[in-house]
Formats: sequence, structure tokens, C-alpha cells
Amino acid sequence: MSSPWPGALAGLVLGVALCLAEQDWTYEGSNGPSQWSRLGYKECDHHQQSPIDIHSKSVQQKHLQPLELHFFDHAPLSANVTNNYVGALVALTSGHVPLVRAGSLYGEYSVVGFHFHWGENDTVGSEHHLDGHSYPLEMHILCQNTKYDSLTKATQRPDGLAVLAVWFEVGPSPNSGLMRLSPALDRIRAGGASTLLSEPPSLLELMPNDLGHFYRYEGSLTTPGCYEVVTWTIFKQPVQATEQQMARFRTLTGLRSRPIGHNYRLVQLPYGRQVFERRPLDEAALEMKPQRDGQEAAASGPQSSATAAVASLLLLQLAATLTTLSAAVALTL
Ligand SMILES: [Zn+2]
Repeated sequence: MSSPWPGALAGLVLGVALCLAEQDWTYEGSNGPSQWSRLGYKECDHHQQSPIDIHSKSVQQKHLQPLELHFFDHAPLSANVTNNYVGALVALTSGHVPLVRAGSLYGEYSVVGFHFHWGENDTVGSEHHLDGHSYPLEMHILCQNTKYDSLTKATQRPDGLAVLAVWFEVGPSPNSGLMRLSPALDRIRAGGASTLLSEPPSLLELMPNDLGHFYRYEGSLTTPGCYEVVTWTIFKQPVQATEQQMARFRTLTGLRSRPIGHNYRLVQLPYGRQVFERRPLDEAALEMKPQRDGQEAAASGPQSSATAAVASLLLLQLAATLTTLSAAVALTL
């Protein structure tokens, strides 16, 4: 079920380089995002880049499988948390490797690590936008296709990586996952600092209850080298966290001890790419249709229509209940 950690750890070393800083690029100034291509990261100028602004009116409804998330409810025994000058990266260093299956992805993916993007205040910060709106924080769970034996290979294949993205919004209640991370954030305020967190959160603590409703499109890493090998899953429902929890990320400092004011890339043009949406209740309704149109439809009197309607309603209710329950038991949606 789970792959051994040494492979994942080897990948993680590269993951740090991939998703966070190599110090020849930054988020502002002469080596900022508009210059990444000039610095040699040619793909940053290509036409399948991320992040994007998702237009809810133009997304296409699609029958996408539910995601199967394995070990997302297992808190790892420990985690390494690193400030590498442009962000905070969390690597799960022991316990089961969380896996992502189904979800209409290109196979099975193992979690390499996760990290966060934020802004100067609560009005900005997320990389992906929804109808022009940005959230104060966005988490990326980086996953590698298990059919490739290294992250390097995965970054060279169009089906190599999958990223699960979670938006955070300000709310009255603290998020329990961020609470568990906060002691580590306090210890890695200085650029280059790294610490071992003894009671890390499970991934599920950092994710929304509704994992069945998500957007899907093909894009890239949002940092150099901007490899166009990422299948993106962006959960529609944001996670709530307090203003204080958002602000804690802004205490981190980067180069020359300057605060990491923001670490999000501006949205990129879609260049004709389609964004798909999975809505679990719509799917339940669609699944009813073959039954009503099938051989049972031959007996389509008023009574059977009423029976089908009741069955449809029950299925919809069941789907809603399962969606809620799945957040608690955490595994298959
Ligand atoms: Zn990211």
C-alpha cells in the first residue's frame, strides 16, 4: 500500500529545489517572476502555466471520479519544516506515505511534501483565484506519479506530478492543522532555518470537509523551472483559519533578513485551456439517469416515475451524507 520513505526523502531533496527557492530567482525585483524565463527557466514563458484565475461561469462540468486519499488522516510521527528564503516547506519524514488514487488522475501519486503561499495582508496571497478573488493563503500538496522512480523523471513527463491545492480564508475558529504547525513556524523565522516537528498535523486537518467538489486543469509548477507536468486539483471549499494564523506566516524572513512579504506568482493566461469542475451531487444525479433510461424505463408508468424520483432523492441525500461522513473517516470520497 505505501512506498518506503527513503525514496520519498530522496525526492524531497529535489522537491525543495523545485518548489521553493534556488536563490537566483525571487518574487520581486530584477529576478522577479517576469524575469524567470530570462534567468534560464524557459518554460516559465510557455502557454500552460500556473496559477490561473478560475472563471466559475466558464468551467465545464465533467464526470470526474472521486479522489481516493490514503493515509491522509494519519498524522506522521514527525515532519521537517524548512524556511528556504521564499516560503515554508513541510516534509513528512516518518509514517505511511500518503497516496492519491482515482480522481481521474493519470495513475497513483505519492505525497512528496506540502508548502504555503501567502501575501502582505489578508486580501492577497493565494496563487489561484476564483472569479478574480484571491484568498489570504493557499497550500500546495505536491504529489509524484509512483510509476516514475524519481522526482527528476516525473518533472520530465506530462503525467509526472499532481498538486492538490487548498484555499484558506479568515474565520473565527483556528484551524487545528495550522495550530500544530505554529511551533515550527516560530522556530524557522530566519531564512535557511529548519526544524523537526514532533507532533505534526495529518494532511486532512489542513483540508476542507468537502473534498468531492473541486476544479481540475492541466498546468505547471508555479516556481522555476515552471515545468508543465502538473495535473491541478483545487478544492472549491476554503478552509477557515484565524487572522493570527495567517499573520504567523508573515513573520518569516528571507534574504538579508527581510520579511517574506509575499510568495505568490501572478495568475497566468489560460491560452485556451479548459477548466473542469466536479460537483458530487451532479454526479449522483447523472448516475441515476442510466437506470431510468434503461430497461426499467419500459415500465414507465406514473408509479415507476414516482419511484425513480424518490430513489433519486434518496441517492442525493445519501451522497450528501457520504460527503460529510467522508471528511470524518477521511479516506474514500
Ligand atoms: Zn506552490
